[in-house]
Amino acid sequence: MKTIQAHREPDVKEIHIVWMTTGLGCDGDSVSITAAMQPSIEDVVLGAIPGLPKVHLHNPVLAYEVGDDFMKWWYMAERGELDPFVLVVEGSIPNENLSGEGYWAAMGTNEETGQPITTNEWIDRLAPKALAIVGAGTCATYGGIHAMQGNPTGCMGLADYLGWDWKSKAGLPIVNVPGCPVQPDNFMETLLYLLYQVAGLAPMIPLDDKLRPKWLFGSTVHEGCDRGGHYEQGRFASEYGQPECLVKLGCWGPVVNCNVPKRGWMAGIGGCPNVGGICIGCTMPGFPDKFMPFMNPPPGSYVSSAGSMVYGGIIKALRNITQRKLNKEPHWRHNRKELTTGYKPKH
Ligand code: SF4
Ligand code: SF4
Repeated sequence: MKTIQAHREPDVKEIHIVWMTTGLGCDGDSVSITAAMQPSIEDVVLGAIPGLPKVHLHNPVLAYEVGDDFMKWWYMAERGELDPFVLVVEGSIPNENLSGEGYWAAMGTNEETGQPITTNEWIDRLAPKALAIVGAGTCATYGGIHAMQGNPTGCMGLADYLGWDWKSKAGLPIVNVPGCPVQPDNFMETLLYLLYQVAGLAPMIPLDDKLRPKWLFGSTVHEGCDRGGHYEQGRFASEYGQPECLVKLGCWGPVVNCNVPKRGWMAGIGGCPNVGGICIGCTMPGFPDKFMPFMNPPPGSYVSSAGSMVYGGIIKALRNITQRKLNKEPHWRHNRKELTTGYKPKH
C-alpha cells in the first residue's frame, strides 16, 4: 500500500540570502518587497512558513548591522562559509571594462589594495558559490532605465553579464523577476520557491526563455486588466481619469508580459491600468527604449472589439510579432570591452 508522507524535513537547516543592492538602481525593489504578503518577508525570516529552513537575510537596505558587521557576511559567502546561500542582485550591472581609472559601482574596500570592491567583482566572487541567483527588478534582469541608448556605463542585466546559459553550482539557471519596481508578491513567491528548491522540497523552477517564472509572466497585462470589457465594447478613454480602456492614451498592455493588473500591487489593490495608469512595459527586456515615447499609442492600438472579432487571427499574429520584438533586449547591452550605446561625450 502507498503511504503518504505528511511532512518532509528539509535537506538543509539554514539558508542565507545575500542581497546586493549595489547595481545601478534606486533600491526600489528592496523597498517594494517590504509590502509583500504572499509571503511577507517577515514570515520568511521569522520561521512562519511550514517546512522552510531557518532563513537569514543580508540586505543593506533592511539590515540592522552597518560597516564591518554587515560586510562580514559577504566575505564569509566568498570563503564558502555561508553555505548554502541564494544571491539576489538588484540594480543594473555596469561594465567596469569601460570605467577607466575610476569605477561605476562598488561596496566595501579591498584591504590589500585599499581600492573599492566593484559590483562586477562581487558578482564574480559570489556567483560560483551561490546555489541560485535571482535578479530583482528590471534593472538587474535586463538593464532597465540605466541601460538606455546613449548611456555611458554600458550597463546590462545579469544574464548579459554572466551569460544566458549560466548555471549555478546546483545546476540552476539565473532566475529573473522583472518589474520597475518588482511586484512584491511576485518576488517573494519566486524567492520562496527557490528556498524550497534549495532545501530539496520543490522541483525545478519553470522559467521561460527570458528566465522569468512561467506562471507569473505567461499572460499579458491586457488579459488580466479590469478595463478589458471596455476594450471589447470599443469604449476608449480620451483623457486620464475616465474609466474606459486606456489604449488610445498609450497603454501597451496587449503586448506586455505582466500579471500586475491581476495580482494588484499591495493586498490585491492597484495594478497600473486598473487604477488609471497606462502600461509602459516595465517588465520587458526591451524596456524602456522600445516603449518610447511612453505616451504614444502602441502599434495596432486602435483596433476595437468589432475589428478584433473580424480580424482576430491577424491581430493576434501581429501582436505576437510585436511582443517578440519587445521581449528582446537592445543590442548594446553586453559584457564586451566596447561601448556601443551611442554615448557621445560632450568634450
Ligand atoms: S487599459 Fe490597456 S491593458 Fe487594459 S484593456 Fe485597455 S489596452 Fe488592455
Ligand atoms: S502593468 Fe505595465 S507598467 Fe504596470 S507593472 Fe506591469 S509592465 Fe509595468
